[in-house]
Amino acid sequence: MAVLDRTDTLAPIREKVEAGERLDFEDGVALFESDDLLALGELADLARRVRGGDDRVFFVQNLNLYQTNVCRVKCKFCAFAKTQRQDGAYTLSADEFVENAVRQYEATRFTEIHCVNGESPHVDLDFYVEVLRKLREALPDVHLKFYTASEIHHMSTLSGLSHEEVLRELKDAGLGSLPGGGAEIFADRVRRLVAPGKEHPDEWFDVHDTAHRLGITTQCTMLYGHVETYEERIDHLLRLRAQQDASGGFLSFIPLAFHPENTVFERRGWRHTTGAEDLKTIAVSRLVLDNVPNLKAYWIMMGMPLAQVALHFGANDVQGTVVREEIFHAAGATTPTEQKLDELVRVVRDAGRVPVQRDTLYNELRRWAA
Ligand code: SF4
Repeated sequence: MAVLDRTDTLAPIREKVEAGERLDFEDGVALFESDDLLALGELADLARRVRGGDDRVFFVQNLNLYQTNVCRVKCKFCAFAKTQRQDGAYTLSADEFVENAVRQYEATRFTEIHCVNGESPHVDLDFYVEVLRKLREALPDVHLKFYTASEIHHMSTLSGLSHEEVLRELKDAGLGSLPGGGAEIFADRVRRLVAPGKEHPDEWFDVHDTAHRLGITTQCTMLYGHVETYEERIDHLLRLRAQQDASGGFLSFIPLAFHPENTVFERRGWRHTTGAEDLKTIAVSRLVLDNVPNLKAYWIMMGMPLAQVALHFGANDVQGTVVREEIFHAAGATTPTEQKLDELVRVVRDAGRVPVQRDTLYNELRRWAA
């Protein structure tokens, strides 16, 4: 009977996928409610191929850095933020930041720096502009993927400038693209519960829309596994899909599993998402978010073995070497903070895929035999 149920639920969705038709809200919820994990993975992989995907799996050689962990927002899921006076709070000067980046570049020759921060009320727009300008001078070949839409909105509030004016100033200073953080879950109910101090989703979308119009590509994310329902996850994915239809500048989507350690959720008994939930979310994201070309299995969050399996559930990117991750590790991630290039190659090959080192904009830098 289980086989019959499976056929009944997923068959009409499979027909749509094969025909290249868009899935709607009800399809998305039905996918999340299915327990047939392997069928979901197979369907997501089919969707990826129907839309032109091949056997390549991408990764980037990158460095994660943080200018400050001081933050005024107090999201309930966050274990990274500190107040200015708390032990462990830090705010680096531009010179300290650049010196550190240059030292690490000499060791690992990364092609990208990924930088996100707390929203410190104790800095001004120059704090951000100066670091970009100095980095561009010191490391002109490195792509600077800096600042979430929430941070851009924060800079706008600090400076009194519009999102567009802030983005133009950052771009002039060396900004290459934006990471996708700050999206969390867009539904008002969820945002009120987990991130009441965060900007309204309309602001998040306005920053990305503006960036895309200025020729700045961006990424998008969804933080799942806390208080949201399946319906709210699908609503989130459909809002991203509509934005991509309108402005087209999202290069990749990253589903981020919530890590409860060191947050109020841990005290209330929340647990990590399971591997099945992570794989299902990757698969459904690939199926519903049909216009964002790349989907990352973020190994730092899900662990490398599961990220490898996710390559058969719609993911085509394992993100990168990610030296010095802090945010998920503050919330209990036990993965290493760095993967060597040859280990990423081995993992991708063992999954039956072709390893490709990319730059931030998905240009191929090096391809290995399968
Ligand atoms: S998630 Fe970001 S905005 Fe929210 S408290 Fe943490 S650092 Fe601040």
